[in-house]
Amino acid sequence: MAGEPQDDCLFCKIVGGHIPATIVRETETTVAFRDINPQAPTHILVIPKVHHPDAASLAAAEPGIAADILREAGQVAEGEKLDSYRIVFNTGTGAGQTVWHAHAHVLGGRGMEWPPG
Ligand code: C5P
Repeated sequence: MAGEPQDDCLFCKIVGGHIPATIVRETETTVAFRDINPQAPTHILVIPKVHHPDAASLAAAEPGIAADILREAGQVAEGEKLDSYRIVFNTGTGAGQTVWHAHAHVLGGRGMEWPPG
């Protein structure tokens, strides 16, 4: 069923505590943890506890939780004392998505270019 934990999902396993992660914040609906392969001095992922394969499907099914993700991204940036930061939702293989559980990347602590690569 949509939103239910998936046995083969890495991020559902992090939510369930079955795979370790460096958790920096947790709410009733979200978990934020440090990316294991950081692309910036601060690189934190904010994920919903419910399983949806990408940000758009999360927003369609659970708009309140999609808003929670954005609010938490802001809280993470504040906690990391970031004046400037980027929130990224890679969606689809061609855009670099590798984990099919919705997640926001919060990146900061260095200058960033536009357009992104
Ligand atoms: O946008 P994308 O799907 O590629 O992002 C997945 C992210 O999950 C990657 O940045 C990867 O380093 C991170 N990851 C993690 N902990 C894991 C597995 C992947 O932080 N155990």
